[in-house]
Amino acid sequence: MRSLWSIGRACSVGAACGLGRALVAVEPETVLWLSVCDKGFAEIAEAWHERQVLDRTGIEASGHFRGRISCGELLEEMAGIKLDARPWSAHSLNQYIRCPFSYFCRYVLGIEPTDSVGDDVDARDRGTCLHDIAKEFMESHIGEVLDPAKADEYAEEIREIACDVVGRTPSERSGIPESVWDAYFAGIIDASQDFVARELEFAEATSGVWRPAYLEWSFGSRVREFAIGERRVPVTGRIDRIDVGPGGALAIYDYKSGKKAPSAREIKEVADIQLGLYALAAEHLLGAEVAGVWYWQVPSMGRTEGVWKIDYHRDFNAGRKRTGKLDSDEWRAFTELVEEAACRCDEGARQGMYPPTPSDDACRYCDFPDICRAVELGAGDLPEEGGVEDV
Ligand code: SF4
Repeated sequence: MRSLWSIGRACSVGAACGLGRALVAVEPETVLWLSVCDKGFAEIAEAWHERQVLDRTGIEASGHFRGRISCGELLEEMAGIKLDARPWSAHSLNQYIRCPFSYFCRYVLGIEPTDSVGDDVDARDRGTCLHDIAKEFMESHIGEVLDPAKADEYAEEIREIACDVVGRTPSERSGIPESVWDAYFAGIIDASQDFVARELEFAEATSGVWRPAYLEWSFGSRVREFAIGERRVPVTGRIDRIDVGPGGALAIYDYKSGKKAPSAREIKEVADIQLGLYALAAEHLLGAEVAGVWYWQVPSMGRTEGVWKIDYHRDFNAGRKRTGKLDSDEWRAFTELVEEAACRCDEGARQGMYPPTPSDDACRYCDFPDICRAVELGAGDLPEEGGVEDV
């Protein structure tokens, strides 16, 4: 029997757990139909198996690996349950942009990676700590320009915050001995002082024109509805930090920990949509010009990648950075590209377009290699690397 769907190593799927490592042959539209109706995977497997036995040739001939769902009734039901009920986020849009099939696994079928306990500090624990340290420090300096003369005072302040944050971070997920945990986080406490050092350098280099104004600023919830383009695609998000600068212009930051932030080129070309989305949301909802959007690599690397308007190049002390510097036409093109990408994702998902699009970047961090169907496709069947077919 040829297997169309496998459930295994990286995924936990409710009732499917009982099936262990076995390959479960499931015809995709049946999976969807049954999963939106909340039936178990064992039942799904059974239903498909019966159909496969009855109609083997039909399955082989109909190109099930292309990630296209064509059943109109199913698409309508899916849209009602999945797309209309929950706004898009930067994460879900990025996942669709990178590989619609991985989006389909995560957001349509609702498959989540198993929370496994490893033998190292969990990247999420580390990231949460670093975010909280940066947020709590800036919270006590909202509206202020940091004063280089107070460097020692700030260093002590962030050290106390870091000790407090680390002390209240649960360590179960990382599954390492407490002594190792303590030693590892002693390093984070020291590194958190570099966060202040970068902020002071930036304040000095930019003559203190920026002041932190909003932290963890949410949009897309009931209080700040936000939708993109003529399609009115609803989007939700939370911006780590917004500073206000010259003439009330906004600088938007997302704190990144762990893996390298997307490059200026990826941001500009909307291979990564997060910062572009934040720019649109902040400009629309706060009614102020956005001067630039940046990834701030915590704890110690500072503003590493971003895109910004040419008029604010000096205000960001961007120096020799060129790729992210945009003139007004380029900025307009960038925001239009963000709108188009969000609309294309929404339209693609509504039309049942979930092709696997393998690429080094997407597949390296994918949670669904065990159920990916790209291997079943011939090279001619695959969309361009990392790309999404126009729909
Ligand atoms: S392994 Fe690659 S092609 Fe397959 S679902 Fe994941 S990202 Fe897509």
